[in-house]
Amino acid sequence: MTYPVHAAETAPAVAATADPGRTVVCSACGCRLHHAEDLAGWTHFAPVSGRDARGCQVACADQVHDARGISL
Ligand SMILES: [Zn+2]
Ligand SMILES: [Zn+2]
Repeated sequence: MTYPVHAAETAPAVAATADPGRTVVCSACGCRLHHAEDLAGWTHFAPVSGRDARGCQVACADQVHDARGISL
């Protein structure tokens, strides 16, 4: 007995993937990040007391992120 073979049944679970060197989004809240050359990383826009510019209350609002949007 033969069964049909489905090779590509498992699609990878795609999360918010950052485009290196281009738009980087925060892995925690998905907001776009701003490249800070002096910090050698990416930061949230205008964080105010632990919240980013869109109002997300994330631990990384004041932190530097890497090219994948993960806070360091
Ligand atoms: Zn963040
Ligand atoms: Zn956010």
